[in-house]
Amino acid sequence: MNTEQLFIAGSWRPPLSGATYATINPATEEASAQVGRGDERDVDLAVAAARKAFDSGPWPRLSAAERGRIVWKLGDLIMQNLDEMARLESLNTGKTLFDSGKVEIPFAAEVFRYYAGWATKIHGETLGLRENAFTFTLRQPLGVIGAIVPWNFPFLLSSWKIAPALAAGNTVVLKPASLTPLTALKFATLTQEAGLPEGVFNVVTGPGGQVGMAMVRDPRVDKIAFTGSTEVGKGIMREAAGTLKRISLELGGKSPNIVFADADMEAAVKGALTGIFYNKGEVCAAGSRLFLEDKIHDDFMAKLTDRVKTLKVGDPMDKATRMGPVVSKQQMETVLGYIDAGKKEGARVVAGGGRANVGSGKGYFVEPTIFDGVTNRMKIAREEIFGPVLSVIPFKSIEDGIAEGNATTYGLAAAVWTRDVAKALKAARAIRAGTVWVNAYNLFDAALPFGGFKESGFGRELGSAGLEHYTETKTVWVDLS
Ligand code: NAD
Repeated sequence: MNTEQLFIAGSWRPPLSGATYATINPATEEASAQVGRGDERDVDLAVAAARKAFDSGPWPRLSAAERGRIVWKLGDLIMQNLDEMARLESLNTGKTLFDSGKVEIPFAAEVFRYYAGWATKIHGETLGLRENAFTFTLRQPLGVIGAIVPWNFPFLLSSWKIAPALAAGNTVVLKPASLTPLTALKFATLTQEAGLPEGVFNVVTGPGGQVGMAMVRDPRVDKIAFTGSTEVGKGIMREAAGTLKRISLELGGKSPNIVFADADMEAAVKGALTGIFYNKGEVCAAGSRLFLEDKIHDDFMAKLTDRVKTLKVGDPMDKATRMGPVVSKQQMETVLGYIDAGKKEGARVVAGGGRANVGSGKGYFVEPTIFDGVTNRMKIAREEIFGPVLSVIPFKSIEDGIAEGNATTYGLAAAVWTRDVAKALKAARAIRAGTVWVNAYNLFDAALPFGGFKESGFGRELGSAGLEHYTETKTVWVDLS
């Protein structure tokens, strides 16, 4: 793998500009790789290759079973290269090697295997509507898919797009986030090993505004599958209108984690911590607003602030570490800016509250930070921080808790903690979010759809719902009269 090159039409080539940029290891602040700085001209070549592979190449014409076998093989190859994939992901993102190697990369492999099974199960319907006609529907691949992904789960969120796209017979151009391109490039080598025909999968690295936007504007791209910030998602939606291409948008969140007084307190404390501090809070579904029924507030906070001390911040490659550095200097400054804003608005810091000192003095480490006495109107409760910062908000009644939880422009995920089944199910219905966990947080499965309500976007990934976004339905009417 030569990280300075792009993967286009089945081969490696330098970007036409000849330029490269450095990716930075957020734990050491040192360069980890030189990566090709692609631009619009490279996108032009990659889209042409994907178009050709779709319009006249073998991929959409293979039997579904053969396509399924190759997609399955990709899952196998990911697992065979697990150590390297995990190391590259941690090097780029700062997430712990445990999270990359035990959670993210294996889940991505599972997504390929899950969609491999679907390749032979995509079908239309026969409708016996009238005597003189034979009518049926076909579900056909869309064509060229432009996949644009963020830096928090770089390879996992790529797999959510690439696997269903390939299983349905589409071709793909992937644009990884500028900060985290290494696993995408490694994966390109695996597609060669798996025998994916040339042009079916392409990777163009480079700045989002250039590479991503060129894909959005290109009329030869049939769909953009985007995961990222709400702001960039809105820009993509506006631009995509120019060619009316299909889009699915997985955007930001400010998810409520609601604890009722009758909850299993130990489990809820643990869930509150993993809800916000898993992957340093760089999780779109992070439970960043913790709602506590006022009766249990003080006890709960005592347990929470006690337990947060056990989250060891440090070198992501060290087994004892629970939280690595945030992804970049810029992201660290954004997070610290929000911590300042919280203090200024009168919220009370009860844990953390600044940069974490891990000894070396290097790295973008932020302390796991908890604010108490937050109201929904404060900036730290309204805006997505995308870092290890929790806002705690007390509430009085069930209705109050749900209404406050829903009082956000986002709607990606939520959790409720209670031993009362009826209360849990009522809350699960009433909360306006794409996923609601009951007595749990951050659980995912390749078969369960994931996506947003409101400004968290639209379209679902994973499950059969995820597959639908990669096919068009065609009606065929055969006149028999
Ligand atoms: P981002 O929106 O800045 O970037 C996402 C991707 O879009 C990157 O590849 C980037 O290079 C590209 N991009 C940037 N500007 C572009 C433009 N003008 N046109 C086309 N592409 C462009 O997001 P980020 O900072 O990488 O990731 C963090 C955000 O992603 C958070 O808001 C988070 O909530 C969201 N996210 C959502 C989900 C979900 O499933 N809903 C999952 C993970 C992350």
